[in-house]
Amino acid sequence: MVTRKKTKVTPSPCPVCKGSGDVPRTVHVGRKRRPVGEQSGICLACLGTGEAPAE
Ligand SMILES: [Zn+2]
Repeated sequence: MVTRKKTKVTPSPCPVCKGSGDVPRTVHVGRKRRPVGEQSGICLACLGTGEAPAE
């Protein structure tokens, strides 16, 4: 039998951004999508919270 414990949701750091909330994104430019550098962008896995998405 499964018992649901009411525990506090402890946010674990997002595995994608390592808890920072943002990730380096490669910036492409032009029709050839030539990479020109990296930019910090919001992490789409945690939406910038830095916490692993909870169910
Ligand atoms: Zn993240």
